Amino acid sequence: RSVVVAIDGPSGSGKSSVSRAVARRLGLAYLDTGAMYRALTWWCLEQGIDLDDEPAVTAAASDFPLVMGTDPTDPHVRVGDADVTAEIRTTRISSAVSAVARHLPTRAILIALQRDWVDRCSVQGIVAEGRDITSVVAPDADVRLLLTASEQARLARRARELHGDSGESALAATRDEVLRRDRDDSAVTSFLEPTDGVRLLDTSDLDFDSTVDAVVRAVEA
Ligand code: C5P
Repeated sequence: RSVVVAIDGPSGSGKSSVSRAVARRLGLAYLDTGAMYRALTWWCLEQGIDLDDEPAVTAAASDFPLVMGTDPTDPHVRVGDADVTAEIRTTRISSAVSAVARHLPTRAILIALQRDWVDRCSVQGIVAEGRDITSVVAPDADVRLLLTASEQARLARRARELHGDSGESALAATRDEVLRRDRDDSAVTSFLEPTDGVRLLDTSDLDFDSTVDAVVRAVEA
């Protein structure tokens, strides 16, 4: 079946891993739009572009040799010949990406690419996830979900991802990155409250498999 699923959520809501698992289970394509902003950040830094220089960042976006894998079993990201799949997850990129994502003319270019991807994959069906998918990129998606989780749950998840545990020092190291990034991002995208018709799914008390089950049920409903 062909279905377009749009999923938004803050950092640590689990949206990336959940979206990927849902796409695998339902045989859909997968689009990680955060990876596009991350890859563009890598590309700008690579060229020595000042991330506050909106025209320069936008020019880089319009001449961006991005290759995104949309197979949920192998979601690789390449820029030209460079495979940046792992590199774009580093703290260097995570702490810089909001500066790129706040430029509206830059966003317009990535949003157009994302809409193209969704259109191109609409025969197979696709799960697209990010911060503005339910509201801007694919407001007409068949299923629109906002994943949330308490601040405590989000911090604990990110700490486990980044530091392998969720003890006090791992939590402290994560707090700044997660909360600061959500604050910066929420100035340009509205992923903290569901827009009209978007279903809210609170995952604070759900483990990974139960969250995937809940999303699959929402898609199949
Ligand atoms: O989802 P992820 O944490 O990989 O996103 C990285 C960054 O990309 C976010 O912090 C945000 O600045 C930006 N982003 C965005 N709009 C999206 C997806 C991501 O602004 N749809």
